[in-house]
Amino acid sequence: MAQVEIAALRKSYGALEVIHGVNVSIADGEFVALVGPSGCGKSTLLRMVAGLEEITGGDISVDGKLINDLAPRDRDIAMVFQNYALYPHMTVAKNMGFALKLQGLSTGEIDRRVKAAAGILDLDAYLGRKPAALSGGQRQRVAMGRAIVRAPKVFLFDEPLSNLDAKLRVQMRAEIRELQKRLGTTTIYVTHDQVEAMTMADKIVVLQQGRVEQIGAPLDLYHRPANLFVATFIGSPQ
Ligand code: ADP
Ligand code: MG
Repeated sequence: MAQVEIAALRKSYGALEVIHGVNVSIADGEFVALVGPSGCGKSTLLRMVAGLEEITGGDISVDGKLINDLAPRDRDIAMVFQNYALYPHMTVAKNMGFALKLQGLSTGEIDRRVKAAAGILDLDAYLGRKPAALSGGQRQRVAMGRAIVRAPKVFLFDEPLSNLDAKLRVQMRAEIRELQKRLGTTTIYVTHDQVEAMTMADKIVVLQQGRVEQIGAPLDLYHRPANLFVATFIGSPQ
């Protein structure tokens, strides 16, 4: 479990600033959805937390410790991408264990963690398969398995369900949330789908053009939107 603090965070690409000083506090074990229209800066913000994008200004800390200058692998943070980024030539087991191998864990320990994650994700029967031989939902679970085996302090998800059909998407929402509750891992979940955010999150951060419009519990945003943008985006009754 971990507490995450994002303070006055800024990002510029060349002369163009796309994140204009964002503040978000996330409690231990909390599931926070980061929502907003396409291009508002959700992925950029998440990638800065992951260490995949340089910070232009501000601070990110985990459990009170600044992580601004740490390499991604030293951040104790695991990210699940929209396209899953699975290695096509590797089996499910190898995909799930790869990062641990890079960390230098023993084969026995890797095997133990991969089997435990496969059990949690209902992937036991698929460990020897390659990603091409899996359904979309199973690939999504492998991507989650890769994050789980690292036992990180923080999970980051960037639109993880957008490649799935509507029915599976609804099912996976519940699966991800159940899993997150079970593990108690602090989570930032990016989505442009307000229904996904409303049904999954403890707290929602509404972003527009690189600025936070409102932060609150789903029902707070619904019943007491701070402005017309939030009301329209969340779908509050007008
Ligand atoms: P979202 O994930 O909310 O759709 P992004 O974080 O991908 O938004 O993008 C936010 C803004 O930053 C957009 O205007 C986008 O064009 C711009 N942007 C993202 N990545 C780059 C980059 N590598 N170079 C220049 N501009 C970028
Ligand atoms: Mg994005």
